[in-house]
Amino acid sequence: MARVSIRIPTPLRPFVNGRSSVDVEAQTAREALTRLTESNERLRAQLVDDDGELRNFVNIYVGTSNLRDLPEDPVLEEGAELSIIPSIAGGRASEVTEAVGSSVEAEQVGLTTAELRRYSRHLLIPEVGVEGQERLKRARVLLVGAGGLGSPIALYLTAAGVGTIGMVDHDVVDFTNLQRQILHDTSSVGTAKLESARARLHAINPDVDVETFETRLDSGNALEIMQGWEVVVDGSDNFPTRYLVNDAAVLLGIPTVYGAIFRFEGQVSVFGAENGPCYRCLFREPPPAELAPSCADAGVFGVLPGIVGTIQATETIKLILGQGRPLSGRILLIDALQMQFRELSIHADPSCPVCGENPTITELIDYEEFCGVNVDRDGSAEGVPEIEVTQLQRWLDEGRDFQLIDVREPYEWQICNLEPQGARLTPLGVFPTVVGELDPATPLVVYCRSGARSALAVEKLREAGLDAINLKGGILAWAEEVDESMPTY
Ligand SMILES: [Zn+2]
Repeated sequence: MARVSIRIPTPLRPFVNGRSSVDVEAQTAREALTRLTESNERLRAQLVDDDGELRNFVNIYVGTSNLRDLPEDPVLEEGAELSIIPSIAGGRASEVTEAVGSSVEAEQVGLTTAELRRYSRHLLIPEVGVEGQERLKRARVLLVGAGGLGSPIALYLTAAGVGTIGMVDHDVVDFTNLQRQILHDTSSVGTAKLESARARLHAINPDVDVETFETRLDSGNALEIMQGWEVVVDGSDNFPTRYLVNDAAVLLGIPTVYGAIFRFEGQVSVFGAENGPCYRCLFREPPPAELAPSCADAGVFGVLPGIVGTIQATETIKLILGQGRPLSGRILLIDALQMQFRELSIHADPSCPVCGENPTITELIDYEEFCGVNVDRDGSAEGVPEIEVTQLQRWLDEGRDFQLIDVREPYEWQICNLEPQGARLTPLGVFPTVVGELDPATPLVVYCRSGARSALAVEKLREAGLDAINLKGGILAWAEEVDESMPTY
């Protein structure tokens, strides 16, 4: 006899006193099902027909294998796990539960008749119900970023009835955002993201208060903006903001729902929850700037922020409701290309500089400097010699002797490049290996997409004693000012 556990899906839980799993003693899978159903005729009727055959709309899994695919009734090992996988139609409520929902309306609650109707599918779930919906209505959630991650997060939190949603962003909707930032549409290109977000959210649910902070979150304003919120959701796209959000949230004692995306890969976790780790417990320091490309540089699969953002929205709502098991102390890794979800555990680090026993960070620091980002707002590095695109064109016309280096990635080179002007592709990642091959007698002009990565390269080249100059504004400036027919991205 082995002791095995049978996982019970939600629709069948009413037959087992609401439990999510039931332990039985059995030798084989079929015997385990018999044990489970022997004293429960109604549950038995759900799983097998009158002849004792498994019903076609139910599958039983032993570990990860379907019982139907296994040669015969398999013998179970101690601790084996069986799962009942029923077919699920979707969100349509049955007549029985509709009736339960309508009886709710008679009660005196802090929700209007329109709200009771709008959220009726929530009210039917015991984990939400009227009380949970009222909690959502009272909740205040701050969202950092109204971009790829911020879009699905804001849309779902608004639809779910989170009473007050704060949004911090200072960007304008760009045509290249529309591939993933579903808060915004074609007609909002060129307008402030927060303006476009507010209109869209208001159209979904006019009852939700949207508070906007059209600014760049920094050490000077973060504590003021972030205090008084119940949950902070990090939908940012750069390391300085991530560390800033983490540190400020830890100092304020607010949990953060973290999400990050890179091409086809995503990460989600909950930081700063009670006894849980923070972002710095996991990543003590940011990678050096040249190893940390932004979405614009690295590209992102458009659906991915939708997957990651909706998981962040789910965790946010669970935190507000106090239901389920938060993704705290765990990080969920998503690989959309393989469509695999993995979970790793993370521990609160007693020596963490911000949430540890003897924190060294007790106030906000300069996060740009901490992350090694020596870049000003228009994307050019400070203290690095620059050349304007128009001047570069003059140099080319004059036939001046210099080397033109493109430090972008090969797939960016494929979109547009200055090969006709004599440019050579040397991606930033392989840069250190080719520095020795460059002719120290000939000056270098280095460019990338917008001038930030090439500034880092110029800095390194100059440290190595080479005469290097950065192309201000990158190839985007070239496309704008010199060659308007050049495709941009
Ligand atoms: Zn920590």
